[in-house]
Amino acid sequence: MSIVAGGYWAFFSPYAQGFGLFPYRGVTDEKVVALTFDDGPNEPFTSQIAEVLRSRGITATFFQVGACVERYPAVTARLVRDGHEIGSHTYSHRFSDCLRWSRQRADLERGRRVLAAVLGAPPTLFRPPWLFRHPPMLRFLRSQGMEPVSGHFAHALEVFQPTAERMARRAIAKTAPGAILIFHDGLEARTGERHRTVEAVALVADALLAQGYRFVTVSPLLGIAGARAQEPAVG
Ligand SMILES: [Zn+2]
Repeated sequence: MSIVAGGYWAFFSPYAQGFGLFPYRGVTDEKVVALTFDDGPNEPFTSQIAEVLRSRGITATFFQVGACVERYPAVTARLVRDGHEIGSHTYSHRFSDCLRWSRQRADLERGRRVLAAVLGAPPTLFRPPWLFRHPPMLRFLRSQGMEPVSGHFAHALEVFQPTAERMARRAIAKTAPGAILIFHDGLEARTGERHRTVEAVALVADALLAQGYRFVTVSPLLGIAGARAQEPAVG
């Protein structure tokens, strides 16, 4: 393996564990799956996904960007009231903030503070943008009682919004007991068109329900003890 490929693998791969635990699935033989949504809240798509989930009695995990939470705090609060789990996904989701750890850490802490104000307690779960992580970040998360979470990208080209059927087929094929599937209800810290993701989530949910899957949020799937109860402080 070249140094470039090796570096990519260690810093960005959803599956590499070289720097410490970065779980991409729960270890179980049971038919359970965790749907996760990054980069929101982004309206109207986040609320549309929430409606797809609510109508099927499903809970999921949302890794949210602080700047977007400031735009839609009531959407985040409502997700929690509906039984979903909220994790942090930084404040700005800017790649430039990843280049210096001091800036990245400040951005991470700011995102966590914004969520804590809305949730009534800081979130335990953290997913780094682009899954980019390194040893100082993982050490810092551990020192703060935070848990980094990876997963399987539901569809590699979701950002280009292929048809819902294509995204759903890929996501369903990747699902195995304990899987953590990554969708995007937003686009970094910007707005983004996501109606095909909304449709894909409905297709995936129906197919997996028909296969006998149960839907869980990430903390119970990974057996994360002491996940703080989230009580929305605004709404
Ligand atoms: Zn992201």
